[in-house]
Amino acid sequence: MKIIDTHCHLHMDYYKKDREEVIKRAYNNNCIFMLTVGISLKDSEKACELAENHQIIYASAGIHPHNAKSASESDFEKIHKLCNRKKVIALGEIGLDFYRNLSPKKSQEQVFEKLLNMAIEIKIPVIIHTREAHRRTKDFIKRFPLKGVIHCFSGSKDDAKDYMDMGFYISFAGNLTYNKDLEEVAQYVPLDRLLVETDAPFLTPSPLRGKRNEPSFVKYTIMKLSSLKDIDPEYLVEKVWENVKTLFFKNRGKL
Ligand SMILES: [Zn+2]
Ligand SMILES: [Zn+2]
Repeated sequence: MKIIDTHCHLHMDYYKKDREEVIKRAYNNNCIFMLTVGISLKDSEKACELAENHQIIYASAGIHPHNAKSASESDFEKIHKLCNRKKVIALGEIGLDFYRNLSPKKSQEQVFEKLLNMAIEIKIPVIIHTREAHRRTKDFIKRFPLKGVIHCFSGSKDDAKDYMDMGFYISFAGNLTYNKDLEEVAQYVPLDRLLVETDAPFLTPSPLRGKRNEPSFVKYTIMKLSSLKDIDPEYLVEKVWENVKTLFFKNRGKL
């Protein structure tokens, strides 16, 4: 079975000691695509660098809502420039996190708005992080004719429907393997709107919870999702790959 990880943070220091081994394990598990996602300017630069050194790794550049309060004017200019690099296929992660509120709401919203405008300007898909903020997130994205993904989806069926109506894809992470509330949502989202991810090093799927997560573990989420949808996992991955190509590559003129 092939595997795909549409959202990980492989360039981060969590993998400082054994990054090449982690990547090798992904290859050994027939991984065909990984997207390593930036959360600040510095972090996005590292993501780009890693992607440029590995054929199947792509990158995104963005400012996570946690980091909104420390974003400077020049950070925005540099993020804009990074988006023009060859392996950068999305702007993200960006969004709102009212669960941890590591930046004040107001600065989260200002940064989110700025980056959504930037995405329109560049014509690039967005990776949205949203936690305890679905209503507000929808208020923002409905004003922008963008394509993108709601990563590590944790909302209701109605939320999923609203996002899909706005042209978004829904991505499931390892929490699908232990959060029963998500099962019904996963069954509901059609195959042409589904993505899968690890959000590694976070959110390790069952049965490996407690360990550091890595892209090869996406197979557990793929298995869970295919059993919930009662389809062959290989077929599911085929569909996810088509979605990756449509969302990230066609929209960037890279296919
Ligand atoms: Zn996130
Ligand atoms: Zn993430």
